[in-house]
Amino acid sequence: MTRLSSLEINCDCGHRFKVVYYASINTFIDPDFDTSIIKEFIDGTLHDFKCENCGKIHHINMKVLINCPKGMFWVSTTESPENIKNILTNYGVLNKDGNVVDGFAERLESWLKKSPEERKKEAEDADEKIKNLRKEFFDGLKKALENSSDEEEQMNNKENNEVN
Ligand SMILES: [Zn+2]
Repeated sequence: MTRLSSLEINCDCGHRFKVVYYASINTFIDPDFDTSIIKEFIDGTLHDFKCENCGKIHHINMKVLINCPKGMFWVSTTESPENIKNILTNYGVLNKDGNVVDGFAERLESWLKKSPEERKKEAEDADEKIKNLRKEFFDGLKKALENSSDEEEQMNNKENNEVN
C-alpha cells in the first residue's frame, strides 16, 4: 500500500516542524494513486519540505518502497532524476516516453477508449484469472486441512497408544 510517515525537521533557523512524507508508493492497487506522485518523486520535490519560517528547502534522504505490478523495489531519494527514471522504466512504471503507465486514471482512460468487444474480452480474461486464483486458493486450503487432519490423527493414535 501507499504509506505515509511523518518526521520532525529541525531547521538551521531554529524552527521545528513536522512533515508527512511518502514512505512507500503503490502504483497499481490504490484507486487514489495519482501519477503526479511519481512525477514529483522523479524530480525530487515529493520529498522536499520548505521551512515556513526561513524558506529553506529540506530534502528527506531515504529509501522509498515502490510497489508496482512487476514487483517491489527500493529507490533512494538521493538518486538523480535520470537514475530514478531509468529504474522506473525498467520496472515498467514508466513507458518509453517517460509517462506513468500504471496509474489508475490512465488504466481507466485506456479502458474507456476500448471497444465494447475488447472490454468484454478483457473482463472474461479477468474472470478466468480470478477463477484460477480461487481454485489455487481452495486447493491450497484443502491441502493444508488434509495435512493438519493427518497430524491430528497421528496425535490421536499416539494418545491411544499411550493409553494402551
Ligand atoms: Zn528555517
